[in-house]
Amino acid sequence: MAAPLTVSARAAVVGAGPAGLMAAEVLAGAGIAVDVYDAMPSAGRKFLLAGIGGLNITHSEPHAAFLSRYGDRARVLAPMLEAFGAQAVRDWTEGLGIDTFVGSSGRVFPKEMKAAPLLRAWLHRLRERGVRLHMRHRWLGWEADGALAFDTPGGRTAHRHDAVVLALGGASWPRLGSDAAWVPWLAGRGVRVEPLVPANCGFEIDWSPHLRERYAGQPVRAVTLSMSDDQGDWCRSGEFVVSDYGVEGSLIYAASARLREAIARHGRAELRLDLAPGLGLERVARELAWPRGSKSMANHLRARIKVDGVKAGLLREIVPAADFQDPVRLAAWVKSLPLTLRAPRPIDEAISSAGGVAFEGMDEHGMLRALPGVFCAGEMLDWEAPTGGYLLTACLASGRWSGLGAARWLARRNGA
Ligand SMILES: Cc1cc2nc3c(=O)[nH]c(=O)nc-3n(C[C@H](O)[C@H](O)[C@H](O)COP(=O)(O)OP(=O)(O)OC[C@H]3O[C@@H](n4cnc5c(N)ncnc54)[C@H](O)[C@@H]3O)c2cc1C
Repeated sequence: MAAPLTVSARAAVVGAGPAGLMAAEVLAGAGIAVDVYDAMPSAGRKFLLAGIGGLNITHSEPHAAFLSRYGDRARVLAPMLEAFGAQAVRDWTEGLGIDTFVGSSGRVFPKEMKAAPLLRAWLHRLRERGVRLHMRHRWLGWEADGALAFDTPGGRTAHRHDAVVLALGGASWPRLGSDAAWVPWLAGRGVRVEPLVPANCGFEIDWSPHLRERYAGQPVRAVTLSMSDDQGDWCRSGEFVVSDYGVEGSLIYAASARLREAIARHGRAELRLDLAPGLGLERVARELAWPRGSKSMANHLRARIKVDGVKAGLLREIVPAADFQDPVRLAAWVKSLPLTLRAPRPIDEAISSAGGVAFEGMDEHGMLRALPGVFCAGEMLDWEAPTGGYLLTACLASGRWSGLGAARWLARRNGA
């Protein structure tokens, strides 16, 4: 049965996450009436969850380094991030009355380390500018006549708009709204969508029950991880967490794209862990060669090279017992302990997803070539980046870019 049609000369934004809300902001700023639709009872659920970790909105490093975080998508994202980069994100946040600060790692946060005040101020400003928010409107694709179909508490409805921005998110944490149900609807209309896969995710390692029971949940601080793969060498210092299923945390997320690809290609990926990055191999061997007398090996490791707790637990887990008696061999393990990762954790646990709408199917203003008048933004596009504020920055920048693209397209259509 055909759904009742509400004809309206307005722009629609589907998805009230940061990308969609930014698209709505620029469309409203261009004098266009905007309806924002979202399946959830309230806007920005994932944005609010990001606030629990302090809401890392962007990063203060130089622009070239910032851009390099997007890997081989840096080139296509560059125009968006040059128009709305890290400083613009800070200015925009402060324009909403939320002060920001740069943390010791260069990451940028709102002073209060919360998302709710920012989201509240943003939604208030959008409503003041006439943006209409329609919650509990689950987009179902298109009706035969091109109208957007929605499932609402009052039943199925359809709305026609002059331009549409889709900002439906990726596929991580689907319970917050971004469930990727849109993939077949776009693919069915000739839009190329790369498979959605976990990004910034944990990885599985076959830990022994002992390691799991004793150390799951513990951070492994001030270490260096490295790997070599078809793309070359990768090496980064920082911290990660031993979890009951394997490993997670910022250092792991930073390598997650390469780890995921290595596992897809070879069935496993190997990281090398340096437990004493401040000491060279020879120095570690010299320290370990000191006579330990009646001291236990645990005390010896702690006293000579500051390896204890979960770090010592990892050594015990992986190193053959005999090598603990040989300072040279043990030093080699301390400096390069192999961690064999066998699978990424499922996408619904990941911080973000990779894959999505291919840029090749979009014009330079964010419009889908297969669907004139339909634009895309945010995490549903085929790019990925590590944690560090790069995700939100690119979501905001691409939301702005596609909102401006839609406004420009509407202006052209109306002969302006
Ligand atoms: C735990 C966690 C912590 C994070 N922390 C950070 C951080 O500190 N810094 C950072 O940069 N990034 C962080 N991120 C990532 C960041 O939150 C996301 O990249 C960002 O929210 C994506 O924005 P988006 O607007 O593209 O999509 P989303 O925020 O996912 O919004 C998409 C919206 O579309 C709606 N939608 C989907 N399908 C439909 C449909 N069929 N009909 C109607 N509505 C629909 C959803 O309900 C949702 O509201 C974090 C993510 C997680 C999970």
